[in-house]
Amino acid sequence: MTQLEKILKQAQAERHALTREEIVTLLSLTDPADLQRLHAAAYEVKLRHSGKVVSFRGIIEMGNVCSKDCFYCGIRKGNTEVERFQLAEETILRGVKRNIDMEYGSLVLQSGEIESDAHTAFIEKLLHRITEMSAGKLGITLSLGEQSEETFARWRAAGAHRYLLRIETSNPALYAKLHPVGHNFERRVNCLRLLRKHDYQVGSGVMSGLPGQTYSDLANDILFFHELDLDMIGMGPYIPHHDTPLGQEIAFTPDYAADHLRIGLNMISVARLYLHDVNIAATTALQALADDGREQGILAGANVVMPNITDTEYRRNYQLYENKPCLDENSEQCRLCLARRLEKIGETVNWNQRGDSPHYAARQ
Ligand code: SAH
Repeated sequence: MTQLEKILKQAQAERHALTREEIVTLLSLTDPADLQRLHAAAYEVKLRHSGKVVSFRGIIEMGNVCSKDCFYCGIRKGNTEVERFQLAEETILRGVKRNIDMEYGSLVLQSGEIESDAHTAFIEKLLHRITEMSAGKLGITLSLGEQSEETFARWRAAGAHRYLLRIETSNPALYAKLHPVGHNFERRVNCLRLLRKHDYQVGSGVMSGLPGQTYSDLANDILFFHELDLDMIGMGPYIPHHDTPLGQEIAFTPDYAADHLRIGLNMISVARLYLHDVNIAATTALQALADDGREQGILAGANVVMPNITDTEYRRNYQLYENKPCLDENSEQCRLCLARRLEKIGETVNWNQRGDSPHYAARQ
């Protein structure tokens, strides 16, 4: 048995078994045969915990108004090129209805970051109406940025079960380089702890392949996921957006896409091999790098896909990064296309099931 095969076998047998050095070794693999071994080992662990099944969550991008000015993000406050929108309650509820009709057992509501009493109340009311509409059966995930403890508590009481808040990078120095003054790493970590305290299924994650980020940073990210005892992981490759300070200098070449896809897939595999029973998303950003990027994500160990159910007319204004796929497809087309893609790799969709994180169930 080679050294690599030994490491993979041990990681499959026991979670949290990899050392920091071994994590770095796995993340930096580039040889195609080694990559194949890494992904296959992680896929086997995925099969053990969720079978040949993928859970869907329809995502509604509710608005792109944002108080943050993150240097990498296409909807940052300082980007004057983007037309701002906020969907009305009835429009969002139409999307929710579509989500139910399409038999997606869970829903994600995402938007830019807004903190105000009016916004908290708007979301709270929306959550009550969604819970009513779905007779409490739908899994409801929020991805609405940093909020006060009181807001998290109110939204939980109104029916939200899960919250996604990416830490973006667990390296505070790198975090400071990617965000303007006033964007606070500690506060973001504290929000993750508050979400946990209020009994959400907590999801976080990072972007991989950021300028200045090392394999050692990425290894620490994976250890950080364990330290916070996360239930869900959503990670994706960093993709430049030309109307942002970070993205304007970076050329999006075929080499860029190939390298970033490899790192993104390796992150999924190593996270699966280290954490075992968490939900891991094959994010849309993977598909921005390769047409079958999300399927590759599943085969590397992910078990969740988030089909876009935002009305096509708004999708153009929610481009966090360039080359975002499916801008012209409607939700029904996305549903069929994704189901067909998964069928091709022998996976089935968990229709009408919430697909909660097994890790959350285990820690209850
Ligand atoms: N406002 C919410 C969620 C919206 S952004 C929040 O703050 O949590 C969702 C995610 O998109 C971000 O967490 C970030 O990781 C990712 N993202 C933003 N810009 C990106 C880029 N240029 N490339 C890849 N991912 C990006």
